[in-house]
Amino acid sequence: MPALASRLANVKVSASVAMTIKARELAAEGVKVVSLTTGEPDFDTPPHAIEAAHKAALAGQTKYPPQGGTPELKAAVQRKFKRDNNLDYSMDEILVTNGGKQGIFNAFMATVDPGDEVIIPSPFWVSYADMVKVAGGVPVTVSCPQNNGFKLRPEDLEAAITPKTKWVMLNFPNNPTGAACSRSEMKALAAVLLKHPDIWVLTDDMYEHLVYDGFEFCTIAEVEPRLKDRTLIINGASKTYAMTGWRVGFCAGPASLIKGMFNMQGQATSGVSTVGQAAAVAALDGPQELVKERAEEYRRRRDMVVEMLNQAPGVACHKPEGAFYVFPNIAGCIGKTSKGGKKIETDMDFAVALLDEAHVAVVHGAAYGMSPYVRISYATDMESLRTACLSIQEFCKGLS
Ligand code: PLP
Repeated sequence: MPALASRLANVKVSASVAMTIKARELAAEGVKVVSLTTGEPDFDTPPHAIEAAHKAALAGQTKYPPQGGTPELKAAVQRKFKRDNNLDYSMDEILVTNGGKQGIFNAFMATVDPGDEVIIPSPFWVSYADMVKVAGGVPVTVSCPQNNGFKLRPEDLEAAITPKTKWVMLNFPNNPTGAACSRSEMKALAAVLLKHPDIWVLTDDMYEHLVYDGFEFCTIAEVEPRLKDRTLIINGASKTYAMTGWRVGFCAGPASLIKGMFNMQGQATSGVSTVGQAAAVAALDGPQELVKERAEEYRRRRDMVVEMLNQAPGVACHKPEGAFYVFPNIAGCIGKTSKGGKKIETDMDFAVALLDEAHVAVVHGAAYGMSPYVRISYATDMESLRTACLSIQEFCKGLS
């Protein structure tokens, strides 16, 4: 059989997808599984966004879109950056992408040459490292341990920078830990980056609006305006407006970079679905109260999940500032044996045994670059979360 390209040699199937598939297989056998693996809101897309898409389709907006986004959506994105982040961007500094994911992919494909290094605070969203590798670059992970709230320390960032560093990635609120940086923490990171004028900064702000207890989100280009001309902000409709399936992301950055990404996108997709873009305009320009109400519901879930997980023997769960994930440490479970006879030597063993014996699906921390942890998504209803947490408690009590 003809061979696949060598660039795919180190690219993995995402672990969260792999666990989701395993959970679905068990469910197909009739087992009732609670899946806490997926990173998508359980809420519906706001009706006004759906209506806008319907209207756009009926009005004939069904032809190829402008490659970089419709003028209406780019203008709505401009307003969003002004409203939420106090940042001004011109139209040629904005690109509409197929989800936030394609923005990141475009950026690496447009800038990364073989051997270029991309600094990724770890734990990290699995796709970053794989996208860097596809682009021919080298992911360089920097550990952000729990005792620092899973945040990037300026001295660790500084130590990771080499003459080959092309990008530094920031993702706060973070997937998988939920950690978010305060303004002063962001300022300290910016101080390091200011010393290295040849490095691009990519900030993935997908979870911007999911912060709790009055925490104030900030993004680095606003905190340190001197970094704006080499910062790319990735954002989108997926998490904020429960629009994962519409595949609408957007980004803002210097015009030269956006131009390169635009060229890359043109060869890959010719732009983003017209009806999806119309829906995103309505979501961005429409009432924003829903976003706050949903964030409050996520906060309630986070509080319950953290409290219940901390009652499970061997589990220690940190309370994060944002996103819809918790990343409990399971060091106290390692070395033990489950009731079903499975020796728990790694977080992967824990996740597999938990699924097989307690029918709760989570993702092992190793998949995000840090062990022994698991990632739990609380983007699901309270009842399922309560059931899952009780099952986790029982499972952990059964370890000996
Ligand atoms: N960035 C982070 C940190 C994510 O967790 C995700 C999705 O899980 C994305 C980007 C991708 O978002 P989208 O669905 O808009 O491509």
